[in-house]
Amino acid sequence: MSQALPTATFSDGQAVPALGLGTWHMGERRSERAAEVRALQAGIECGMTLVDTAEMYANGGAEDVTGEAISGRRDDVFLVSKVLPTNASRHGTIAACEVSLKRLGTDHIDLYLLHWPGRHPLRDTVEAFEELRASGKIARWGVSNFDTLAMRQLSALPQGANCAANQVLYNLDTRGIEFDLLPWMTDNAMPLMAYSPLDEGRLLRNPDLGRMAGQMGVSPAQLALAFLLGRDNVIAIPKSSSPERVADNRASAAIELTEAQTAELDRLFPPPRSRQPLQMI
Ligand code: NDP
Repeated sequence: MSQALPTATFSDGQAVPALGLGTWHMGERRSERAAEVRALQAGIECGMTLVDTAEMYANGGAEDVTGEAISGRRDDVFLVSKVLPTNASRHGTIAACEVSLKRLGTDHIDLYLLHWPGRHPLRDTVEAFEELRASGKIARWGVSNFDTLAMRQLSALPQGANCAANQVLYNLDTRGIEFDLLPWMTDNAMPLMAYSPLDEGRLLRNPDLGRMAGQMGVSPAQLALAFLLGRDNVIAIPKSSSPERVADNRASAAIELTEAQTAELDRLFPPPRSRQPLQMI
């Protein structure tokens, strides 16, 4: 029996596992589709039931793969997708969501995000999100790649405070959000979704991380994810197209970092000492 996953809780009381599954780059190659579906299903079976996708990924291809992976088990899954900023007008948001629902083979998305701030007035996007919520096509909405100032501005809009989450770049090598955004999110009881938690795989080649993981008898991926799982209300969404690597990631939940190990990570990957511009991929 594997270690239970920590959870994060949205302000409406919905709890989700703090370790989910990313899907960027899935759906790009037909030859890899079956492996991608298998990897997502392996993750869902071991409790990583939050799946993060977007209309942007492979031009809908990742939503197609996700739809196949969750077919017959929709109710076991917490589904996150995203609207492209170019589509995020009052009507475009609704049209984009309907196309995503078709590709995902479902009648609702659990969390629908604006992928990054764009040229359409945010007020219009929020109105569209609220209409989608009222019609049951989405259960809640949020944003991605919003810095602290953008979160404050969003909160001040009519119904802007209904934002459920913000998904941003966060990993051991990219800790700037710890200075102001993460505390703001905590104060507002809003989970933060950490994307690229392995820095798109780059962290796994970091010799310092490799050495420390080796001393602990865990993999570098497990150590990088354990760092994030140790934070309250942070949801990490590593992507892997291999069931073995998904299992490796899942095993990070068994690691409880000691104070000395946390201090060593802070030495190797120092936390921010001042406000930093939000980094994005
Ligand atoms: P990750 O940090 O999750 O790293 C993914 C890479 O790491 C892949 O190359 C994967 O290879 C490899 N990998 C995963 N697990 C292991 C392991 N245990 N051992 C060795 N290698 C491993 O990068 P992503 O950029 O994909 O971020 C995760 C998710 O976040 C995305 O898939 C997407 O859903 C979301 N995202 C959101 C963004 C936004 O703007 N909102 C931007 C970027 C990402 P392999 O598949 O071969 O295992």
